[in-house]
Amino acid sequence: MPRLKTNPIKTGALQFSCVPGCINCCDQKGYVYLTEKDMANAAKFVGMTVQAFESKYVYRTKHLLRLRKPQKSQCHFLLQGGCSIHPVKPVQCRTFPFWPELVKSRKEWTLAGRYCPGIGTGELVQIGTAIEIASEMETAYPTIYEGW
Ligand code: SF4
Ligand code: SF4
Repeated sequence: MPRLKTNPIKTGALQFSCVPGCINCCDQKGYVYLTEKDMANAAKFVGMTVQAFESKYVYRTKHLLRLRKPQKSQCHFLLQGGCSIHPVKPVQCRTFPFWPELVKSRKEWTLAGRYCPGIGTGELVQIGTAIEIASEMETAYPTIYEGW
């Protein structure tokens, strides 16, 4: 059966259900940004002090924190079985694919469906709920979404 793509604006709902075992979103080129809370939670989860965790895994700029990238993969915490810090993964990982740039554009939502097999399948999520989830991104990373 062909997979139907929903229209985020016109249908009033997005169809999405994460596919067990998939790690495609973790494997995309790009950065994983962290909030201070994400960093503290991840440090605690792996049994490190925040300072030691930051020094080993995090790159801090004036306004942002992001995970350092290992040489041969997109993320230190991406193992064969999936995310090794799954219960405390950063906001951007937890909220994907309900990111502002995706839920507010049918074109971008559809493009994300090229690598996320969960897009266009499973549950219908009302656009209001999707935007509410996406607003967590804007709160977590204000310097990235400034002017949205
Ligand atoms: S922190 Fe976990 S969920 Fe986020 S990119 Fe890395 S492996 Fe994936
Ligand atoms: S790419 Fe989509 S289906 Fe795959 S793990 Fe990420 S959110 Fe789930």
